[in-house]
Amino acid sequence: MDLTPSPEESALRAEVRAWLHENLPWEYGKGLPPRFDTLDEEVAFGREWQAKLAGGGWVGVTWPTEYGGRGLGPVEAYIITEELARARAPELVGRIGINLVGPTMLAHGTPEQKARWLDQILSAGEIWCQLFSEPGAGSDLASVRTRAEKVDGGWLLNGQKVWTSYAQFADWGVCLARTDPAVVKQKGISYLVVDMRSEGVEVRPLRQITDETEFNEVFFNDVFIPEDRILGPENNGWHVANSTLSHERGSNPRQLVIHAQLIDELLRLAQQEGVYDDHRIQQKLAEAFVEVRLFQLHNWRTISRLSKGLEPGPQGSMNKLWWSEMSKRMHDTVMAVLGSAAPLWRGASENPGDGTWQRSWLYYQASSIWAGTNEIQRNVIGEKVLGLPREPKPAARR
Ligand SMILES: Cc1cc2nc3c(=O)[nH]c(=O)nc-3n(C[C@H](O)[C@H](O)[C@H](O)COP(=O)(O)OP(=O)(O)OC[C@H]3O[C@@H](n4cnc5c(N)ncnc54)[C@H](O)[C@@H]3O)c2cc1C
Repeated sequence: MDLTPSPEESALRAEVRAWLHENLPWEYGKGLPPRFDTLDEEVAFGREWQAKLAGGGWVGVTWPTEYGGRGLGPVEAYIITEELARARAPELVGRIGINLVGPTMLAHGTPEQKARWLDQILSAGEIWCQLFSEPGAGSDLASVRTRAEKVDGGWLLNGQKVWTSYAQFADWGVCLARTDPAVVKQKGISYLVVDMRSEGVEVRPLRQITDETEFNEVFFNDVFIPEDRILGPENNGWHVANSTLSHERGSNPRQLVIHAQLIDELLRLAQQEGVYDDHRIQQKLAEAFVEVRLFQLHNWRTISRLSKGLEPGPQGSMNKLWWSEMSKRMHDTVMAVLGSAAPLWRGASENPGDGTWQRSWLYYQASSIWAGTNEIQRNVIGEKVLGLPREPKPAARR
């Protein structure tokens, strides 16, 4: 693997950096993104920022030019994401659309579907959510019970989803629903597009340990889905869903930069809190430094595969497993540095960061759950990378 950037790659890095210098809503390299009191304000800001980014041509860069992308390769996309994270640009508010729905639609959508939806995904004119998990179907996603019954001109959708991030802001959702209960579970699922403003859709926000309500329960009560709102053929949804899930793993330059920045911030915090010379803290800081470096190598290995036209493959599970475990350990180090301030929350006196660190610690506890739990990643690595015997499966269910 040759890691020397080509002249074109260096030029692209300079171009995105120059654009950010001009267009970031705060001073590049100095200011920080605003802190919002409510999720509504954060989402409104995120929509504006994504529209601006899309206008500059920095969103969906690997998508074909005919659909508003730039037809760039994985290395270029990696460089752009890295530069955005370095500038501390917020994560895209429409990331589910950009990272999951758009690529799935490009692979499985009809020309009419692409023309209708992709443009609005790029600009965050419309926001999407992922209606996959259910109370009884998370890791074992093929057990979904939400059902869609065929009616004149489409389907009637009934059931419940859970952990649906941003459903309260979403215009559209991609939903796995059972369209044939009589066959083996993977074979009777369809991949439907739900208008989140339709009659019969009820969204109930769930309050998280961070005191935020990013994800929701979603209930469907006789929701009519017109017949052109399906991606791929009826009962072929499991295949389409796997296309979506494959985009959840792989390289993650954003998390790489965020954690490299976290080390710098940790060093400053340790100095400020007077524990910089404590050898136990120094040991943890050194470990964090090595772990971030190793994560960079995991990322580069994946990007090298992608640039050869290969899929991230089961090795992508290594990246997810590594960064989430690394992140949790680093956040534990933050708490060790904070010492007696660790259990404090916003508004408390003598709490460096006024709860930001504590919020971050709580938030990253979920990193070993979303996009496939770490136990599942370990199963994938054991079975598909190391060739170990398969985990015993519970008796097959329909
Ligand atoms: C912050 C966050 C955002 C999310 N956003 C969305 C979203 O937008 N849309 C969406 O559809 N979902 C979303 N999810 C849901 C997420 O995909 C699921 O939580 C995840 O797939 C795990 O499913 P589960 O919660 O049902 O746990 P379960 O699958 O019930 O697992 C419970 C425990 O059992 C373990 N386990 C399960 N099966 C096995 C096995 N075969 N071998 C070993 N251990 C096993 C798991 O690792 C876990 O520890 C989100 C989750 C989080 C935390």
